[in-house]
Amino acid sequence: MEKKITVIKGDGIGPEIVTEAQKVLDKVAEKFGHKFVYTDILMGGCSIDKYGVPLTDEAVEIAKNSDAVLLGSIGGNTSTSPWYKLAPNLRPEAGLLKIRKELGLFANLRPANLYPELREACPLKDDIIGDGFDMMIMRELTGGLYFGARKTENVDGVETAVDTLTYNENEIRRIAIRGFDIAMKRRKKVTSVDKANVLDSSRLWRKVVNEVAKDYPEVELEHMLVDNCAMQLVRDPKQFDVILTENMFGDILSDEAAMISGSLGMLASASLNDTKFGMYEPSHGSAPDIAGQDKANPIATILSASMLLRFSFDMDKEADAIDNAVKKVLEAGYRTGDIMSEDMKLVGCKEMGSLVADMI
Ligand code: NAD
Repeated sequence: MEKKITVIKGDGIGPEIVTEAQKVLDKVAEKFGHKFVYTDILMGGCSIDKYGVPLTDEAVEIAKNSDAVLLGSIGGNTSTSPWYKLAPNLRPEAGLLKIRKELGLFANLRPANLYPELREACPLKDDIIGDGFDMMIMRELTGGLYFGARKTENVDGVETAVDTLTYNENEIRRIAIRGFDIAMKRRKKVTSVDKANVLDSSRLWRKVVNEVAKDYPEVELEHMLVDNCAMQLVRDPKQFDVILTENMFGDILSDEAAMISGSLGMLASASLNDTKFGMYEPSHGSAPDIAGQDKANPIATILSASMLLRFSFDMDKEADAIDNAVKKVLEAGYRTGDIMSEDMKLVGCKEMGSLVADMI
């Protein structure tokens, strides 16, 4: 199969980690008889330096004409980089918001799992971890509180701020369908998280999720209030398969889930639209503190490439090959600095990429 992948290396450690993910993708192409055609575009600080804007319209067109996007990370040191003296719409992150909007990426998928080899990095107690956990957080990405009308005004001499949380049934239905589809590829359980005891938007969320569930009789559905979910994540993370939730709850819960799985350097993510198209990137940022030093952990980006194959190209065997290669490299005791522990073998970004590629 021949597929077009838009590559956004970005800033900081972005170019280093994406190069390693491409090394792994090339090995997959060789082994399984595919051809991946890459086109690089600039986004973030590097695009500001070259074009004065964080993402050009030409770059967006290239992304739109490809089958999927692989992204490293964008942005610099927010205290010292000159990029953060620019107007907000010209800063690196504006490029990310623009590409999500232009590509219609409304569903954000973040796996949080614990590799047995990295148990020590998990802050939870051994009896809670048990045999480990493996969940997927499906977060709505383009609606809710972050996109509603907002204002700050003086009301009778008192400064007052208002943010609006709006969802319509169509926005809820399309993300719910995505959540149930993913559950069908996994352990067939959806936990829909809301605050239906207080919020109207959550009551509509629950009603629409219940309607969508009727089309998925094999999937077990439970509803959970967001405050309870925050507790359950640290009390019994094993209970979760797919967590389906709105934008702000998902923002907070996915960081909590990232924290219990040990290292940011291991966590992949995907942003999907209503076709097979998606943008795949690690959950971490551009780590300017270690950029250019061959210290970054490329595994989150390599696992993002695996998600790209699975969700955009339906290449499950190839994705499994990458996931297994990562497991074997960890089992063999190789670690980058962020996941290093006693008696393990410390390797750099490039060597970690080569080790994973060699295991395929
Ligand atoms: P960060 O995730 O870049 O770094 C946090 C800490 O984790 C740092 O100590 C870093 O060295 C370490 N780290 C992160 N990824 C690592 C990896 N793969 N291997 C080893 N160590 C790793 O978060 P930050 O420092 O708050 O942000 C830095 C920049 O990244 C900012 O400009 C921020 O806006 C941007 N950012 C971008 C994205 C994105 O591109 N989607 C996401 C988050 C943050």
